[in-house]
Amino acid sequence: MKAIRFYEFGGPEVLRFEEVPDPVAGPGQVTVSVKAIGVNPVDTYIRSGTYGTRPFPFTPGSDATGVIETVGEGVSGLAPGDTVYTSATITGAYAEKTLAEANNVYLFPKNLSFSSAAGVNIPYATAYRALLHRAGGVAGETVLVHGASGGVGIAAVQIARAYGFNVFGTAGTEEGLALALREGASRVFNHRDEGYLEAAKAETPDGKGFDIILEMLANVNLSKDLPVLATYGRVVVIGNRGTVEINPRDAMRADASILGMTLFNVPPSELDSIHAALYAGLENGMLRPVIGKELPLSEAAQAHIDVMKPSGAHGKIVLLTEN
Ligand code: NAP
Repeated sequence: MKAIRFYEFGGPEVLRFEEVPDPVAGPGQVTVSVKAIGVNPVDTYIRSGTYGTRPFPFTPGSDATGVIETVGEGVSGLAPGDTVYTSATITGAYAEKTLAEANNVYLFPKNLSFSSAAGVNIPYATAYRALLHRAGGVAGETVLVHGASGGVGIAAVQIARAYGFNVFGTAGTEEGLALALREGASRVFNHRDEGYLEAAKAETPDGKGFDIILEMLANVNLSKDLPVLATYGRVVVIGNRGTVEINPRDAMRADASILGMTLFNVPPSELDSIHAALYAGLENGMLRPVIGKELPLSEAAQAHIDVMKPSGAHGKIVLLTEN
């Protein structure tokens, strides 16, 4: 089978498209014939070495979708032919076949294409975790999704809308703003405009500010987020690419909380609950992954360039195999 591999950390050019042996399922494991793979910013951080060491050669990716080919001894609840997505893999998702622990494999509803299902795992699990677990959001609260045009942002807008939040979103292009509106934001603002946060705050109920801000670029926004929080407001830091200086008084004023989150920290039992909720939302159509671009697996390097472009996000970038 073919897979993407890299032998050293570096830029997108280190990614090679190679012939590799097929994986074999051991006890508790399954092999998946991969149809589509979701490309996430974290894949590029791992490729560049920001996330610590990896055994070389290394195949990136966690979010594969496809059809179960074989199941190892002791696996129950999954069978060859099942259509699934993975939340983690042993041999890497950027491949025509992947090996995964059975407990990292989830069935998805029949109404979803493989490409759409590749947009589920990291974006939707992260958005759900941030909004409902970390921020402890409840229906009726006003939430600002900062970066509502990207993978996690669109997921957050849809989940927040489905759960009865009042949803505001930001994006950096007209296309991104229209997308956020279409997916459930009631108001949208361009994060490139001067004074956009104050303008957004003015439109919250009684101008009190946001109960929750889901932050995709904390190093740019965190110091400006705190003054637009309502009393007892929470900022969940989902994405960050640098350092930032804040005035702690802004947090004192609102009894505010700044909450970090990393999907890898979610305990397995809570992860199962998140994926059960996502299944229901995907099945009833409240959650609809938006795929902005599809590329062949061999063009993984281009996908890594595209996913890190500073602006112009429009849903997920997905790699397709020839399976
Ligand atoms: P993505 O699809 O590339 O989207 C990036 C988003 O950031 C776009 O909506 C983009 O908007 C927006 N953005 C750009 N400049 C911004 C600014 N100044 N203020 C606010 N938003 C801005 O990436 P993603 O998959 O959604 O991930 C978003 C971030 O979360 C990444 O940094 C990723 O590494 C991180 N993440 C963290 C976790 C975790 O477990 N903590 C999990 C998943 C992702 P425009 O393109 O419209 O300008």
